[in-house]
Amino acid sequence: MSLGWQRASSRSSVGAMIELEGLTKRYGEKVAVNNLSFTVRPGIITGFLGPNGAGKSTTMRMVLGLDRPTAGDVRIDGRHYDELKDPLTYIGALLEAKAWHGGRSAYNHLLCLAQSNGIPASRVREVLDTVGLSAVARKKTKGFSLGMGQRLGIAAALLGDPRILMFDEPVNGLDPEGIHWIRNLMKTLASQGRTVFVSSHLMSEMALTADHLVVIGQGRLLADTSMAQFIAENSRSYVRIRTPQREQLLDALHGAGVAVAEAGDGVLEVDGDKSEAVGELAARQQIVLHELSPQRASLEEAFMQLTAESVEYHAHDGQQPGAVPPQQQQPPGQPPRQQWGSDWKRG
Ligand code: ADP
Ligand code: MG
Repeated sequence: MSLGWQRASSRSSVGAMIELEGLTKRYGEKVAVNNLSFTVRPGIITGFLGPNGAGKSTTMRMVLGLDRPTAGDVRIDGRHYDELKDPLTYIGALLEAKAWHGGRSAYNHLLCLAQSNGIPASRVREVLDTVGLSAVARKKTKGFSLGMGQRLGIAAALLGDPRILMFDEPVNGLDPEGIHWIRNLMKTLASQGRTVFVSSHLMSEMALTADHLVVIGQGRLLADTSMAQFIAENSRSYVRIRTPQREQLLDALHGAGVAVAEAGDGVLEVDGDKSEAVGELAARQQIVLHELSPQRASLEEAFMQLTAESVEYHAHDGQQPGAVPPQQQQPPGQPPRQQWGSDWKRG
């Protein structure tokens, strides 16, 4: 992909950091952003995740100096947005999807932006090419689809060949091809050493794109973690079991020292990857099983639980959120079947 012009790769430092410190925004009584502190780093995609109304767009507007913080601070490469010389070379942003009603062509829209920011006109063709709008460059933007509008917004964000790209819910309303394209673009930008900060209200979207995850709920920071760690901590594996001989199976599992939880509707759950072991135990005791299926808790559930707890925390004013049942620990280096085998013989 040609991102040309200043040739980002030749710069000593391509990326730049966004640093938030105690960032807070109140609208009257409403606290939209509540004491947020985190850092967005170069060379990776940082996902900014939170349910609708969590404060993502407000935070992003404060990064750009479009909204004034009530308290706290946000800096780009150590400076406020207003203090940046040639701001479009530092940060390019796509804010919320908007309808294009201009009588201008895509080319002229970008040309005006380039000229008013001291960016060479030749750059306009480059970004139109990058976002795949060259063929419609002379068409008026008011006829653009939502997807074309998003591409034009991204072309504008790329115009200054910026060190930081910030996209607010860029996949909203796009078709699968457009979503795929934006994901790949963000990955390319990050691999060039740029800082990519992207918001979404969908865990599934973040899981596919982000290397690092910042989660907020009701304006507050709930998690600031690598995606890999978030997945490892939150995608619990377990076995789902249904049997017409519930009491016998419970006895057998208890006899083998296995913790089992009742999940309602007659469904039993055993933590870990133990479907083979449970099946063999049931066979030995001639217990009929109607279902024995390995499961993995979805990240979506983990996200909902995380944000629900923040709501509960506020509602109960100072009480700790409900404890999550402890995961069953597997002794290291012991394949589950062997461990089970010895338990059955004792039972
Ligand atoms: P998100 O982008 O995560 O969906 P927003 O930043 O848009 O969340 O909004 C956060 C909260 O602040 C919401 O409750 C929203 O209603 C409120 N809010 C946002 N902008 C304004 C405004 N200009 N005036 C009053 N309330 C606002
Ligand atoms: Mg928003």
